[in-house]
Amino acid sequence: MNLVLLGPPGAGKGTQAKRLEERHALVQLSTGDMLRAAVAAGSELGRKAGDIMKRGELVPDEVVTGLIAERMDADEDGKGFILDGFPRTIGQAEALDRLMQERGKQVDRVIVLEVDDDALVERITGRSTCATCGEGYHDLFKQPKVPGVCDRCGGTKFTRRPDDNEEVVRARLKAYHAQTTPLIGYYQGQRKVSAVDGMADIETVQKEIDEALAGASA
Ligand code: ADP
Ligand code: ADP
Ligand code: ZN
Repeated sequence: MNLVLLGPPGAGKGTQAKRLEERHALVQLSTGDMLRAAVAAGSELGRKAGDIMKRGELVPDEVVTGLIAERMDADEDGKGFILDGFPRTIGQAEALDRLMQERGKQVDRVIVLEVDDDALVERITGRSTCATCGEGYHDLFKQPKVPGVCDRCGGTKFTRRPDDNEEVVRARLKAYHAQTTPLIGYYQGQRKVSAVDGMADIETVQKEIDEALAGASA
């Protein structure tokens, strides 16, 4: 099974992708994580992408499509993919259909996480990540059980993304509404969409995603 997690910045895509990986035989492919790794490595691609990401705009389709194609081949061990943050434009969705087809696969289900813009800003500005294992946290909604210590790996260093401030989030939301929401119609045309209320708490959203997947494969 190959899944697309679609939703605005801060909707909970990364949080749910990690949980899905643990429950099902699936591999998370996050273009945001891949691009941040390229920025950290200081590659030419990273320098170009970093400037665009700082402004909250989308990097070119060819760049992210190339990253996804590479990873689909590298992670080819029979597991399905959870695409987190990709595709984000119609051009990317069409490219993904081609990539899947060339490999004898398809997108089986598209989960759309629906969250109000105001809640998104609150989620983004309170977000932090364990520097060691990548577990996500939130200042209000998901604090570590022991303050300052990662629940998952015991790490004590946490990072915040440079683009997780209110100004850049507004630009990212604008890009989402203009360039990414048309994908909902694209995938509705393929009868693959399950909408999930992303305003609920993390456990409830997880349950609803599982129900949507069970209903889809039945
Ligand atoms: P979010 O948590 O806001 O959903 P991501 O980590 O997925 O953010 O993406 C961070 C940034 O990386 C985006 O604002 C954009 O600049 C770039 N990016 C990530 N994925 C894509 C994509 N599929 N197409 C274009 N740009 C992307
Ligand atoms: P995305 O990958 O869609 O940008 P994240 O999964 O990183 O979003 O979530 C954004 C922030 O909101 C994180 O700090 C995360 O801990 C928190 N969060 C995720 N899901 C929920 C939820 N259902 N309710 C409250 N906070 C959440
Ligand atoms: Zn950790």
